[in-house]
Amino acid sequence: MSDKPRNFATRTIHAGEQSSVADNAIFPAIVTSSSFIKRGLDDNPEYAYSRVSNPTRHAYETCVAALEEGVGAVACASGVSATATVLELLSKDAHVVVMNGVYGGTFRLLEDYRGRTSGLTTTYVDLNDIEAVAAAIRPDTQLIWIESPTNPLLHLVDIKAVCDLARARGVMTCIDNTFCSPWNQQPITLGVDLVMHSASKYIGGHSDLTGGVVVAANHELLGRLRKISMAVGAIQGPFDCYLALRGLKTLDVRMERQSANALRVAQFLEQHPQVEQVYYPGLESHPQHALSKRQMRTGGAVVALRIKGDRAAVNRLVEALSIFVLADSLGGVESMINHSWSMSHNSLSPEQKGVMGISENLVRLSIGIEDYRDLIEDLDAALKASA
Ligand SMILES: *Cc1c(COP(=O)(O)O)cnc(C)c1O
Repeated sequence: MSDKPRNFATRTIHAGEQSSVADNAIFPAIVTSSSFIKRGLDDNPEYAYSRVSNPTRHAYETCVAALEEGVGAVACASGVSATATVLELLSKDAHVVVMNGVYGGTFRLLEDYRGRTSGLTTTYVDLNDIEAVAAAIRPDTQLIWIESPTNPLLHLVDIKAVCDLARARGVMTCIDNTFCSPWNQQPITLGVDLVMHSASKYIGGHSDLTGGVVVAANHELLGRLRKISMAVGAIQGPFDCYLALRGLKTLDVRMERQSANALRVAQFLEQHPQVEQVYYPGLESHPQHALSKRQMRTGGAVVALRIKGDRAAVNRLVEALSIFVLADSLGGVESMINHSWSMSHNSLSPEQKGVMGISENLVRLSIGIEDYRDLIEDLDAALKASA
């Protein structure tokens, strides 16, 4: 085999160890064994115990790492356990600089748990204000936690700018790349040290698994993450690794369709009389459209909008939709709608929601792979019903 790096779509199918050399199988077996037999006291087989390493998990990890341009990955039980694994890299009482409006589960972990148990302290800043980031970095700052685009308003972070600063100041960087998937954004190529995903979203892609993964840019971090994963044990089981690897096989075609659909939906919504505002990085009206073109392949498959009207109007919209389903998640092949105010951000006070720009007339769409004409028709009818 030549050493020439393969293109992304080819890597989704062939990168890593996506076949079993031993038995000729075109897809690696789901190895459920918790233990592996040693042939003697001096035998050190590659696999010994599945909390430490497992062939199905390894096949999945090597594929994700190749897609993210990293050196290796650690698959975890969920997105939040992947985040928790990254936080275990920090020493007691470390300080973390965090992107404003970060995923609620990340905020909860940092504030309700790591602050109390590990003495972590945090400063939330808009990472696009690079002077504010520089000012927020202290001698005890060990990590900058990036999320781009953010949920639900799709603010982007200039990843390279933040990583250049972090590197100069000796601070590690990790990005939650869930909303993009490795298809749409490869942050390691922009200088990030660690990439975290909720595999429950685009990587799995079929709303049928819960998982998380951390990809490392270098072997030192990968080695430390593997030890943490072994010590804490929040690993992804073989059945879910199988589903995630199977999901990756179609990542390229799914994301291509979902992003193309999302752009069409966003363009349609932008001129709809019932719509107040649309947020989608792929639209020229998005304030960070130029940045999106520099660091993302497309605008992605999430679109947010404010409709004209109040909560009751949103409810009429949701009830009138026949294809979009009201759900907490995103990233599946089916189109979904989410009401941030009463769902993902429900635990925040109305004041906190106000600061974050979350109003009662805001909804987030996760665009699936259906025919875009049907999606537009569904939205059009529901928007009319909401009036
Ligand atoms: C869903 C999600 C998570 C958490 O992942 P789980 O798999 O639900 O634990 C983290 N970050 C983002 C951006 C998400 O959308």
